[in-house]
Amino acid sequence: MNKGSLFIISGPSGSGKDTVLKEVFKLLPDVAFSVSTITRPMRVGEVEGEKYNFVSKEKFLSMLENDELLEFNEYIGNFYGTPRKPVDKALAEGRDMILEVDVNGAFKVKEKMKDAVSIFIMPPSFTELKRRLSSRGTDDEAVINKRMLEALREIENAVNYDYIVVNDNILAAAQDVEHIILSSRLKTARKKEIINEVLEKC
Ligand code: 5GP
Repeated sequence: MNKGSLFIISGPSGSGKDTVLKEVFKLLPDVAFSVSTITRPMRVGEVEGEKYNFVSKEKFLSMLENDELLEFNEYIGNFYGTPRKPVDKALAEGRDMILEVDVNGAFKVKEKMKDAVSIFIMPPSFTELKRRLSSRGTDDEAVINKRMLEALREIENAVNYDYIVVNDNILAAAQDVEHIILSSRLKTARKKEIINEVLEKC
């Protein structure tokens, strides 16, 4: 069986990547999503196990010690990590998987998995990013300012990604991500089976 591909999606807080991803999963329901393990407190509206598994710092550190994480990062005082097992399982089963991680996580995953495809979701402007972050109503002023600073640093790293998708229209951005995933399925590395099949029957 051909292995699945890994798609690393990053973008600053407020780039709208969650909303874009929701649309991507509607377009491509067969793609798996990596649920991160994090120590940040749950926000209103978040559901355990949907995007994140919420754990204590102690639990996170024991996962780290047991080498259960593919990568991890500290972001504004909290830990965020990608559990290794579900990634290995999805790819071995031939499923594509999306990892939503920050730029540090993206860099670490790319180092370990050279074939991973990285996509940066870009806000149309910094002014729009600021407007989105302020209008969310989920964070106080100090957190918003920290997120703005972090966003600047992330955007500076966008040049290191394979693809840039600008999110000024959610559906168009989701379709851009869909096209990247679909075209990567046509790569020769994913087509070894058909080559062998055709050759065997000639
Ligand atoms: P938020 O607190 O807004 O949900 O996420 C903060 C940042 O952490 C976002 O940039 C998000 O992409 C990133 N993030 C989420 N899960 C992971 C993860 O498993 N690993 C890393 N390195 N970053 C993550």
